Amino acid sequence: MKKPVKFNTYCPYCRKHTEHEVERVKKGKTTGLHWIDRQKARRSKVGNRGKFGKVPGGDKPTKKINMRYRCKICGKAHLREGYRAGKFELTE
Ligand SMILES: [Zn+2]
Repeated sequence: MKKPVKFNTYCPYCRKHTEHEVERVKKGKTTGLHWIDRQKARRSKVGNRGKFGKVPGGDKPTKKINMRYRCKICGKAHLREGYRAGKFELTE
């Protein structure tokens, strides 16, 4: 999969579409915990961990690609949920 380095997309800080530059990051981090994480934390203290106690399955054949989107207008960066792709390239 190929993706351009610069493209127009929504900036949550400017609240409109602006030009963004992308850079790859090792680990994506979306804001806060999701409800499944809170549920996991609650269950991990005592007793049977239920569905979270299972041994996780095998690895998926592809990994999610995490990218940071930096707005060229305000200079702030935001993250988005990564998506899966085998090969990944950033083009000019
Ligand atoms: Zn912005």
